Amino acid sequence: MTPPKSAATTTRPAKATASGAPTAIEASGNGNGTAPKPDFDLFVIGAGSGGVRAARIAASHGARVAIAEEYRVGGTCVIRGCVPKKLMVYASRVPDELRDAAGFGWTTAEPKFDWPTLIANKDREIARLESAYRSTLSKNGVTLFQSRAVVEAPGRLYLARTGETVTASVVLVATGARPHLDPTIPGIEHAITSNEAFHLERQPRRVVVVGGGYIAVEFAGIFAGLGSETTIVHRGDKLLRGFDEDMRDELMTAYRHRGIKLALGTRLHAIAKTRDGLAVTLQSGEEIACDAVMVATGRLPNTEGLGLERAGVVLGPNGRVVVDADSRSSVASIYAVGDVTDRVNLTPVAIREGHAFADYLFGSKTWSADYDMIPTAVFSTPEIGTVGMTEDAARKARPKIDIYKARFRPMKIILGGGEERTVMKLIVDGDSDRVLGCHVLGPDAGEIVQMAAIAMRMGARKADFDATMALHPSAAEELVTMREKWVPPTSA
Ligand code: FAD
Repeated sequence: MTPPKSAATTTRPAKATASGAPTAIEASGNGNGTAPKPDFDLFVIGAGSGGVRAARIAASHGARVAIAEEYRVGGTCVIRGCVPKKLMVYASRVPDELRDAAGFGWTTAEPKFDWPTLIANKDREIARLESAYRSTLSKNGVTLFQSRAVVEAPGRLYLARTGETVTASVVLVATGARPHLDPTIPGIEHAITSNEAFHLERQPRRVVVVGGGYIAVEFAGIFAGLGSETTIVHRGDKLLRGFDEDMRDELMTAYRHRGIKLALGTRLHAIAKTRDGLAVTLQSGEEIACDAVMVATGRLPNTEGLGLERAGVVLGPNGRVVVDADSRSSVASIYAVGDVTDRVNLTPVAIREGHAFADYLFGSKTWSADYDMIPTAVFSTPEIGTVGMTEDAARKARPKIDIYKARFRPMKIILGGGEERTVMKLIVDGDSDRVLGCHVLGPDAGEIVQMAAIAMRMGARKADFDATMALHPSAAEELVTMREKWVPPTSA
């Protein structure tokens, strides 16, 4: 999750009426001067975060809506992304809790972890959520096709499972993205991606995670927390490109301290099967014996074989659907939201884009997703929460920047003997006093930053933070009690 770049809210002229949009069917006609009524007003491809929201809202505005899903309703976030990951992150943090518990005087029996139990319980919760999503669609009168859908032409869709063709005035592509495996790497067929990591029958005793982005970092934290011997292989010299340097440095220190090996500045060269597992060879020549290799080096928009180019939709170099501020593609009746557009690939963003699309087209309400000050978290352990500019970005964008930093051992871990530090950092515009960036590493960082994001989006200044009464004793109070500007060592 690269922290999103700040961007101004898009403004554009309001659309007169929802029905003012030319439909594909109207545009093409049927050859005898009369346009047949399409089967649906809206056909959504992909029942993930963006698609389900768009379908539900459009239906609530009175549109006749259908949605196609080739796998499971809920999409990446619910089925094999945010939700199962967070459950596994919780599981991986239990050893820390047990250490702290001992410090507080608790004696616990010899703790034992059972991977199949975690996976089964997690799957049960995911099934419950999927069924809630299905019921939302059905309550709103959305027709669900459990099938892969392909665009045959603007306004005409082919449903692979039944071979049926259906028509719709507007098509929304909300097909998300998929993990990418480089086919040129020998033995890549032995690797898994995050998709399979959620369903491993056995916990790998030794695991190599390839990649330095948030998915790689989070899974490494999960595996290591659950007791797997974990190595991260990353071509860069630091993890989490795009995040604030202090957060990156502190996380790498913490990961090394937790026993996670970091093989940086090198790439995966080959994977081979061995008698007792897998052998990973790196470009540096190093060889690592392991039981699983998880590759998380990037995701590609899901447009392959979707028929979009044939229908005249312009795609970007990585296959993303190119859209305007209203999420409209180069074909007037085809729209796209979420990861398939490769704008800001996060669930809340896909949801907002889907909602804005449906309001705009079917509810005559003109608004668009606001990409300013999007808070994000990396659910590593320790966790990172971030909103706004990094120090580097702010230094490039503004003539005068003030930095405030705090680094301390959180109270909760002291009695248990934990050594990790919490780090908090505010980036402030030296001229206007506006808080431009807030970065937190430590327990509950995501929760803290979500709240800071409200104030920052409203234009809070450092003076507002200072004037806010501290909530004591808490870690977050540091954000309102940092008084001393940080002075870089070189100018000290
Ligand atoms: P998706 O949710 O991916 O939905 C697309 C759906 O379309 C899928 O269900 C797919 O099966 C279906 N589909 C594709 N092609 C077709 C077709 N031709 N016909 C029918 N159906 C089709 N985001 C966060 O905000 N926070 C997180 O903590 C977070 N963690 C993540 C962890 C992981 C491991 C991953 C992989 C992602 C994570 N994300 C997170 C990102 C988040 O999951 C996505 O940004 C979000 O799901 C995008 O929603 P979407 O609607 O664009 O697509």
